[in-house]
Amino acid sequence: MSQTTNSTAAGELVPIADRLRYMLGFRVLVALSVGLSVLLAWKRLYVPAEVLAMATGGFLVLATLTHLAWKVSRRGGVALFGFMLMVDGAFLAWTAYATGGSISPVRYVIVLELLTVSLLASHRTGMKLAMWHSLLLLVTYYAQKGHVLHDFSKGGLGTPFQQLIVFTAIFWFVAIATSSFSAVNERELRRRRYDLEALAAMATRIEGESDSQAVADALLGAIVDTFGLERALLLGAADGETLTLLSHHGEVSADADGYPQPGPGSVLRAVTEAQRTQLFSKLDPAADPWLDALMPKARNLVIVPLTTEGRTIGMLVVEHKIRAGSRIEQRIVNMLERFASHGALALRNAWLLDEVQELAATDALTRLANRMTFQDTLDSELARADREGGCVTLLMLDIDHFKRLNDTRGHQAGDEVLRRVAATLREQRRQYDTAARYGGEEFCLVMPGLKPEDATSTAERVREAIAGNGCDVTASLGVATYPRDAHSADSLVAAADTALYRSKHGGRNRVTQWSPQSAAFS
Ligand code: GH3
Ligand code: MG
Ligand code: MG
Repeated sequence: MSQTTNSTAAGELVPIADRLRYMLGFRVLVALSVGLSVLLAWKRLYVPAEVLAMATGGFLVLATLTHLAWKVSRRGGVALFGFMLMVDGAFLAWTAYATGGSISPVRYVIVLELLTVSLLASHRTGMKLAMWHSLLLLVTYYAQKGHVLHDFSKGGLGTPFQQLIVFTAIFWFVAIATSSFSAVNERELRRRRYDLEALAAMATRIEGESDSQAVADALLGAIVDTFGLERALLLGAADGETLTLLSHHGEVSADADGYPQPGPGSVLRAVTEAQRTQLFSKLDPAADPWLDALMPKARNLVIVPLTTEGRTIGMLVVEHKIRAGSRIEQRIVNMLERFASHGALALRNAWLLDEVQELAATDALTRLANRMTFQDTLDSELARADREGGCVTLLMLDIDHFKRLNDTRGHQAGDEVLRRVAATLREQRRQYDTAARYGGEEFCLVMPGLKPEDATSTAERVREAIAGNGCDVTASLGVATYPRDAHSADSLVAAADTALYRSKHGGRNRVTQWSPQSAAFS
């Protein structure tokens, strides 16, 4: 997972720009507090008030100038932050000494600074600052002992050494206490940031995909990567009823077909109906044979429903590797639910798109490929035949005396016959053949790789299947093969049509293969 791209240093939550701004404000307060302390300790100042005023002014000017310099250059923010903390320390140590040492109010400002920095930067910076202030205390102590600075220890409680120990202890106590509490917040914030980033990364992954299979794979892939799962399934019911395996990860038996849909007692059924996430320590193979076959010996399952518009359109099934008996963290479950709700929307949209594309490519009455799809398929199959040196046979079919059927049995019966003929074509085609409705009661079959010598027998099989499909109709067929009988898609259609015309003229319910002779007679 990538880190955030703003200027937050690794491990620190508040961006450096904000930290510098807040610290500038804090320094103004420090200067005011020092001014106040000078007034309070007016009678026993160890440094002339003018010197203190100048030092405080200088401190403010330095703080402001370095801040402005950073604002202009926008470089070295972290170094400046650290440098100014050292300046703060030195200024506070000196003003504390000047205004009374252990009884100076400035010492409280030091405590406040420790608190502020621990919260603003990180607990590590807070510790470093406590160390710096302790060191300065020590330096002041020895400077006083060595008579470099004025010794005013009589003014406070205890011996100078005791005062040193007490203040050092206070500094460390404040830094450690603040750090401990802020570390709890930090961890939580960092987790949330990670979760949000993971969610955003998943959304980006899904957005790049257009078909529903790719969306399902991207969704499950993102979930598996984010949570480090070993086994996971994504189940979906595009039609709103039948659950199918959309995507899987890990040791999953993907061909667990032939199992009945989840029945009463099934955990999948329970989650679908309750529409909320449920945890299961193990599966009952008798109640969930399909899921058990997909994910043999599953333990510690989290099943999250994918719901949109109040309907369960799928399910996310994950197996977590937490010790038996211990429960999965609620945060993980919440995150899985957020992934699932985003995923549900993306899947629903992908399915809708599939549906629209399917509608645009098929004929509404028979659900076969429409004229446009037929044309595209024919073009691409001819191009493939050119590339691979193969052939493509086109079969055209026209129902005999269909007008009469409409007139005698009605148009609805006519429509039903068209549907039945379409179903017969669908049954008769091989895996790579395309059956299309060419026009009113005209159909075609694009059969890549079917050689001219096999074309007639295949067409005969189709003719017989239509004659025997119980609709009491027959059809006339014409076949032609590219590149033997035609040199383009248009001429192939024309050749098959010519052959079909010959079948009509020859008495209907028959097959004609295109030949120069069949063309000559038409
Ligand atoms: P032939 O054996 O020469 O092919 O005779 P035919 O009656 O089948 O030929 P013709 O082209 O004269 O008639 C085709 C009929 O198909 C005319 C039209 O009303 C009917 N038709 C076209 N599309 C549909 C449809 O979607 N539904 C129904 N019920 N009839 C259709
Ligand atoms: Mg016709
Ligand atoms: Mg006809």
